[in-house]
Amino acid sequence: MPERKSAVRLPEFEICGTSVPGGKQVQIDVNIARLPSRTPISMPVFVNRGREAGPTLLLLAGMHGDEINGIETLRRMLKHKLCMPRRGAVVCIPIVNIYGFINFSREVPDGKDVNRSFPGSIRGSLAGRIAHHVISDIVPHVDCGIDFHTGGAARTNYPQIRCVMDNEENRALAHAFAPPFIVNAPLRPRSLRQTAAKMDKPIIVFEGGESMRLDEFAIVSAIKGTQRVMAHLDMIDEAAPAEHEMRSISHSSWLRARYAGLFHSYVNSGDAVAARQIIGTITDPYGDFEVKLRAPYDGFVIGLANNPVVHQGDALMHIGSTEPPISKTTKIDMRD
Ligand SMILES: [Zn+2]
Repeated sequence: MPERKSAVRLPEFEICGTSVPGGKQVQIDVNIARLPSRTPISMPVFVNRGREAGPTLLLLAGMHGDEINGIETLRRMLKHKLCMPRRGAVVCIPIVNIYGFINFSREVPDGKDVNRSFPGSIRGSLAGRIAHHVISDIVPHVDCGIDFHTGGAARTNYPQIRCVMDNEENRALAHAFAPPFIVNAPLRPRSLRQTAAKMDKPIIVFEGGESMRLDEFAIVSAIKGTQRVMAHLDMIDEAAPAEHEMRSISHSSWLRARYAGLFHSYVNSGDAVAARQIIGTITDPYGDFEVKLRAPYDGFVIGLANNPVVHQGDALMHIGSTEPPISKTTKIDMRD
């Protein structure tokens, strides 16, 4: 008689004081604070646990409340049960900054940015309190994570992963995700990425689309990339390979407006550009002048302004190069 395989008993998995059994999804509402009207505000966390042991992956979005593509990405993954792994667990937080979400705003009501408020404190500012709950209630229970963002201020980002390319774990997660672009981005002070890195929990950032606008290409890129990360971590058996080329951006800079006026782009987000190529114009609104904009070097458009009304110094186009830097360029705006 063949030996009967006995199922390996799953160890206890408890998060925010709630035990999550194998093969189940559990919703935990993390109490954040109350509105002035007394209404309690909580952050829903969905813990999806597979039937077999494995790593724990954190997926979170809406840290900036107006960046809806990440929220939609996680909504679809929850709806279609793509967050339920075979092995391990996925901790999914679709909206970290509930206040910003209901106010159509990046920040919390006092103007603070949650992603500049880590590790936060239970008695700190509202942004610091949200950060504190993420860091103390959630991050200790996960092995690694993906934080979903979009371009801000009417700028769109072509789907890209931002991470520290010198870090082996970051690089492995980014390559597994296989986005169209991987952008080397140093850790920002007081960001989730930096604070989690200090706890030895690698978190990479996905950027795709624009705030307050759904971008189907960015959403689908985010879902497929996340599934590839889950397959890489052996949480699911397989994921569809990327159909696009993956490019590593070693250097990037924003092309800024030298003149105020109306910006017309001749290229699209994701396009390749050649050095000196005319990539757009800035025109006087009364038909007086027209200034041609040229690409400073060979590269790809990884971010693009959608608002045609520009002031002097406004960021118009984020151009990334796969080559090492050839000249000194303006400071990069790498807000995540
Ligand atoms: Zn963001």
